[in-house]
Amino acid sequence: MILIVDDTPENLISLKKVLEKHNFEIDTASSGEEALKKVLKNSYVLIILDVQMPGMDGFEVAEAISGYSKAKETAIIFLSAVNTEFKFIAKGYSSGGLDYITKPVDMNLLLLKVKTFYRIYEQNRKLNEMQESLLEEIEFRKEAERKKDEFISIASHELKTPLTSVKGYVQLLERSVNKGDIETVKKHLGKAQVQLEKLNGLIADLLDISKIESGKLKFNKQHFAIDCLIDNVIEVMHQSNPEFKVHKKGSAGCEIFGDEMRIEQVLVNFLTNAIKYSPGTSEIHLTVNVNEGALYVAVKDSGIGISPEQLPHVFDKFYRVEETSQRFQGLGIGLYISAEIIRRHGGKVGVNSTYGEGSEFYFIIPVDSTTEV
Ligand code: ADP
Repeated sequence: MILIVDDTPENLISLKKVLEKHNFEIDTASSGEEALKKVLKNSYVLIILDVQMPGMDGFEVAEAISGYSKAKETAIIFLSAVNTEFKFIAKGYSSGGLDYITKPVDMNLLLLKVKTFYRIYEQNRKLNEMQESLLEEIEFRKEAERKKDEFISIASHELKTPLTSVKGYVQLLERSVNKGDIETVKKHLGKAQVQLEKLNGLIADLLDISKIESGKLKFNKQHFAIDCLIDNVIEVMHQSNPEFKVHKKGSAGCEIFGDEMRIEQVLVNFLTNAIKYSPGTSEIHLTVNVNEGALYVAVKDSGIGISPEQLPHVFDKFYRVEETSQRFQGLGIGLYISAEIIRRHGGKVGVNSTYGEGSEFYFIIPVDSTTEV
């Protein structure tokens, strides 16, 4: 928008008319004081400013405007009776562009200057936009880099923990073997086995992530008995976590078409999390049913729960709830992989949770997910 400042109403009207004819948006002020008020309120690309006005003259107005941050980009064209006056005003205004036209105003010249200022303004605006988006992009890179570094450090730590345990058990095994203490040998072997399983799981998850990234996560879909799979998983979970009891409610009562190992992986992830994030509790509820051709499986715990702000992010890659990340080990990729597996079966994952009371993770997939996503 252009602001025309002139104390002579006829000048204001004729300038306004000409510029509006050329599609410029115009505002007017009939004194320096009124102009200052308007500049404080609105943003102008250009101010056409009469120099000789009673009260505040054009120079004073320009000097005052130069202190307004709002008018940083605003250009000024002075309308002055004598062109020598111009050298006095240049000192007062250093922010936007500055130019002058002598009176009587040559409308063609004024139009030319207005158009030039507008073009410069547009170019500046575009340059600023480009600069901002470049800065944003740099920040986003930086952020990705930071996340990657953080992930590498967590992953190395997570891999090192079971590895150190295995090393320790192997040393103990050596001593027990030398002593011929078979019972202790068996005990240490069992413990080393658990740590190796952990290591294996971590590496498998890391490989899955890179397969998802490169679009190489493949599925081997067949018909399988989901009820059997669920019972087996519950059995295995109970063996490694005897303090927990998983109560199953309902059944599918039909076969599912999907990748059995991958669906098992999702279920194991939900159950492992339910156990991990529910210290001091011992009950988990698993619900399964088939409704209108869709299998629904939900795992509900009475654990630490998740706050509403964190809840929408738990399926994001590398996401771990900040305040619990020190207390519980993990890579923050299990749920991301689970969500991808379910999505590729044409289904969806979800979670309901109350902070401090517990969480319920569920997935829904078509019983016959023949369509590859
Ligand atoms: P990990 O458990 O290895 O950190 P996941 O991807 O399985 O990674 O889970 C992501 C995050 O979601 C976890 O770090 C945890 O903060 C939160 N979370 C997952 N399951 C539960 C649960 N049952 N109860 C509370 N928080 C959970």
